Amino acid sequence: MKIAVMGAGAMGALYGALLAEGGNEVTLVDAWQEHVQAIMEHGLQVETGGCLKTFSVKAVSDPLLLGVQDLVLIFVKSYHTEVVVKNIHHLFHDGTAVLTLQNGLGNADIIAAAFNKATVLVGTTSHGATVLGPGQIRHAGAGDTVVGKYSGKIDQHLSDIAAEFTRCHLNARTDDNIMGVIWGKLLINAGINPVTAICGVLNGELLKAENIRQMAKLLIDEGEAVARASGIELPYNDTFAVLEKVAAATAANRSSMLQDIMSGRATEIDYINGAVVKEGEKCGVPTPCNKFITRLIKELEQRGSDRC
Ligand code: NAD
Repeated sequence: MKIAVMGAGAMGALYGALLAEGGNEVTLVDAWQEHVQAIMEHGLQVETGGCLKTFSVKAVSDPLLLGVQDLVLIFVKSYHTEVVVKNIHHLFHDGTAVLTLQNGLGNADIIAAAFNKATVLVGTTSHGATVLGPGQIRHAGAGDTVVGKYSGKIDQHLSDIAAEFTRCHLNARTDDNIMGVIWGKLLINAGINPVTAICGVLNGELLKAENIRQMAKLLIDEGEAVARASGIELPYNDTFAVLEKVAAATAANRSSMLQDIMSGRATEIDYINGAVVKEGEKCGVPTPCNKFITRLIKELEQRGSDRC
């Protein structure tokens, strides 16, 4: 397959590397020139469990250099999706699919508004990765890829893409209840991310510190009520119990939102807790805790290190 990966940071580079190693014609597209240059000159270096492996994969910073693709994978942070989709119409022909595995809610709607809805694929990933420097990432944890269609039922095209991802060690499966899967992950992120970012703690503290635990529970309870009112079939009976399992499995990790706040970067809060608020407004479910925490994170974002 000819695959363009829009956004070759931690996750885009990881997926691109594994798909390229499997024989696909992959191009990584990233606005970070130094990263692109390092990949072109030395290959993409992926560190997994202390071992470094170099992948040979093409990288460019200008999507206009590419022609028509079979699959376009969107892996920028959610707040860059709108900008990215504006410049890639030339990558599409009748059979081109576009897939988002980004966290949060709202990316698929932006993508579907820009392209033919029938070609939009959505999903989640539980792989974990971080950028170490230009041309270097760490594959922090292997996981699954779950994919479905934005509109319509699973078809052969989607099943073939999932099979190709699995062949390339990305452990993919299809799911007809993909919005339920996406909401399930959204609620876990809505519980873990902002409280760890605000309190400045590792994920494991969610299991130890009662105040932190209760804050996460309030956020998840509201999110579950919104999901139910929106007709979403959540994949778990007890989302908070799943959050506790995730917190235990990632006890030593800094959440992505904590990392973003510590580095003075924008967070994906609008697409996580902010999305719970937005969906709550649509179906008339109050979300005061998610609203409050969204504002708090936005204030932290704006202040950066300018705090007394
Ligand atoms: P990242 O910040 O490491 O990578 C994003 C990349 O996009 C950056 O390299 C940036 O330079 C690039 N970019 C920004 N604007 C661009 C543009 N206009 N054109 C091309 N490239 C552009 O982010 P990430 O950690 O890889 O996360 C990507 C998405 O995957 C997010 O939605 C995140 O929540 C989700 N996700 C991440 C992980 C993880 O472990 N990192 C796990 C699951 C899901």
